[in-house]
Amino acid sequence: MSVRHACVIGHPVTHSRSPAIHKYWLAEHGIAGDYGREDVAPSSIAAFLARFADSGYVGANVTVPHKEAAFAAAEADAVSRELGAVNTLWLEDRLLLGTNTDVHGFLANLDERQPHWGERTRSAVVLGAGGAARAILYGLLERGVKRIALINRTQARANALATHFGSGVRPAGFGELNAAIADADLMINATSLGMEGAPPLAVDIAALKPGAVVYDIVYAPLETALLKGARARGHPVVDGLGMLLHQAAPAFERFFGVRPRVTSALRQHVLADMGAQR
Ligand code: NAP
Repeated sequence: MSVRHACVIGHPVTHSRSPAIHKYWLAEHGIAGDYGREDVAPSSIAAFLARFADSGYVGANVTVPHKEAAFAAAEADAVSRELGAVNTLWLEDRLLLGTNTDVHGFLANLDERQPHWGERTRSAVVLGAGGAARAILYGLLERGVKRIALINRTQARANALATHFGSGVRPAGFGELNAAIADADLMINATSLGMEGAPPLAVDIAALKPGAVVYDIVYAPLETALLKGARARGHPVVDGLGMLLHQAAPAFERFFGVRPRVTSALRQHVLADMGAQR
């Protein structure tokens, strides 16, 4: 049987956890395959993807800053067309196909960690208006969340996303945070603030509705200051590592033909890998 190769494409790509996740599943399932990294500069990405069918790879995950270029290069499915971004590429008869598994990753992690969130959530607050926020808004609306306050530093980006998604999404600035969180059943950080190497997310959550779930999609560090503060106030919390693991599962299935499981052993493996990188 031939050895199947896949990779993650990004720039930079050294810190991607995707190889640790996919190699774990390859070993777990005894699959003859490998998974590597491709650091591709923005000036080379279009040419790299145009030649993908001759690269020897069966597929690839795509990370920052190439998700829009991947969308442009692939036959994109309905979810990725809605998001304008592709994070998973694979070949079928030399045709490059693309999807976006971030919506699935976001929702599957929330379902796993807070199984009853959907019944309780009428109103949500999303911080951030980048690519991740776009996937999150899509997922929340798909699950029937009626009111979403979208808070972002750059107002024009929040306005553009709210226009795209319609009247259920209300754009706002950080000055309106207190009023928004007082009414929210779910608060999500989808900014890069709080991530290692980024400035902290300096928000006061004293006004947050009691019992509201707090979800930070940043996963390095695993327990961000936001989650620590929320936990101390008695809020249920969800960290971002599960989103990363769950978004990888449908990609692995496309590359290697087996749907893998997200387990606590995988989580421990990836946490150890993250620690080893520091
Ligand atoms: P992005 O498109 O670059 O968006 C970044 C967001 O952060 C924007 O809303 C930006 O606001 C905001 N931001 C950045 N610096 C800021 C600052 N100093 N003050 C206020 N706001 C600031 O990035 P993305 O792809 O959406 O990713 C966002 C975060 O989610 C990253 O940390 C990424 O690692 C994480 N993520 C996690 C997963 C997972 O699987 N757990 C998946 C995807 C992303 P402006 O619009 O004002 O610039």
